[in-house]
Amino acid sequence: QKTAPVAEVSGLSVRRGRIEALHGVELTVRAGETVALMGRNGAGKSTLLGTLTGLHEPARGTVRVGGAVPHRTAPRELVRRVGLVPQEPRDLLYADTVAAECLAADQDAGAAPGACRALVTELLPGVPDQTHPRDLSEGQRLALALAVVLTARPPLLLLDEPTRGLDYAAKSRLVTRLRALAADGHAIVLATHDVELAAELAHRVVVLADGEVVADGRTAEVVVSSPAFAPQVAKV
Ligand code: ATP
Repeated sequence: QKTAPVAEVSGLSVRRGRIEALHGVELTVRAGETVALMGRNGAGKSTLLGTLTGLHEPARGTVRVGGAVPHRTAPRELVRRVGLVPQEPRDLLYADTVAAECLAADQDAGAAPGACRALVTELLPGVPDQTHPRDLSEGQRLALALAVVLTARPPLLLLDEPTRGLDYAAKSRLVTRLRALAADGHAIVLATHDVELAAELAHRVVVLADGEVVADGRTAEVVVSSPAFAPQVAKV
């Protein structure tokens, strides 16, 4: 039985500067579904995630997130529907220390004090409290950004290469956490080059090539059957 759509993209084209980074993209993501967005560098994965959070305006086509048009929705309203952890999460973090960032995340989300800090430690033990987010390692900063967004518990989570810089143990703790969120009805779209991660976590794989969807199906079927996917499998 199909659950309610959380994100609906139809006939979407998006320009980045002089090039058309996406053309004619169709995508529906439903509550409880985890979708892996795959494809080579420059295929358009980040652009699609950015468009779902209103960072880029469609040139053609429509985008709806929880029924709202992202680029016409106020940020305060949009964060109730969708949370993005971008490839470089620096811009997401604005406090002077990890502790302050986490306190703000708890407050913004109306979560119990300490909720965000506990998530950081769950994902990656040993992240220091009094360090400026810009002085963290790549993996530590990613764990903090993931914790900030997971604390808000938006119905739709968008994660751009969420395991970059994380060691094996941290990666498996993130997988466990994301599985629990999906079981709880959250929809997750993750852009990744990590076939293993996609196989472990995703119900569906959507492959982009040159801004177009070239495969969309159940993970096992896409991994086995899509010629567009073959170069990625070969890389691992
Ligand atoms: P990667 O795996 O490297 O993150 P991607 O699949 O996320 O790649 P995008 O970053 O969405 O791909 O890029 C899609 C296209 O848009 C590429 O041709 C890229 O060169 C172009 N592009 C990306 N960012 C910009 C920008 N700021 N200005 C102009 N063009 C851009």
